[in-house]
Amino acid sequence: MNAAILENKIKSYVKDVPDFPNKGIIFKDITPILKTIPLVDEITDAFASRYELFKIDKIAGIEARGFLFGMPLSVKMKVPFIPIRKKGKLPCDTVRSSYNLEYGATTVEMHKDALNENENVLIVDDVLATGGTVNASVDIIKQLKCRAVAAAFVLELSFLNGIENIKDKSVDIFSLAKYR
Ligand code: AMP
Repeated sequence: MNAAILENKIKSYVKDVPDFPNKGIIFKDITPILKTIPLVDEITDAFASRYELFKIDKIAGIEARGFLFGMPLSVKMKVPFIPIRKKGKLPCDTVRSSYNLEYGATTVEMHKDALNENENVLIVDDVLATGGTVNASVDIIKQLKCRAVAAAFVLELSFLNGIENIKDKSVDIFSLAKYR
């Protein structure tokens, strides 16, 4: 599907929820996308064709909504999926990194055995906002002596300048629908 058509279609399924979870935040609710399986399929196909030639070894989905788009992409690309989770949720040995969100601060973790040394990782999440989550995820991947080669988002809040805030400029950043 043409990129502009897909962008408009995605936007038509995103619901803006003002003042959630905090006053002044416009929350982008992607649950209407999830109810529309042909659109989930189109999103997955768009990501899969972009990353076909990237030599991706693992797809890292960010809790929680990154799982919803990362896992179907893993199945489609036949690349193993690994979760990046909020602190305290993973049962085995972890590496971790802390960061500030658009609303609040948090720590994310990954299992130490999720990656083998020198692997290429694709990060997947629903929304790129300030870029803090990406920075923390890249940091975790580096702690495990691997490379975050790319990060994929369904939505990007461009007005928050997330791309400029991502410290490692070698990470290929891509989103399907931008809010300027
Ligand atoms: P950031 O670290 O600021 O790039 O924030 C990205 C993370 O926060 C993603 O996991 C998003 O799911 C979530 N997030 C941030 N802002 C919003 C928003 N306005 N609407 C929905 N999710 C958001």
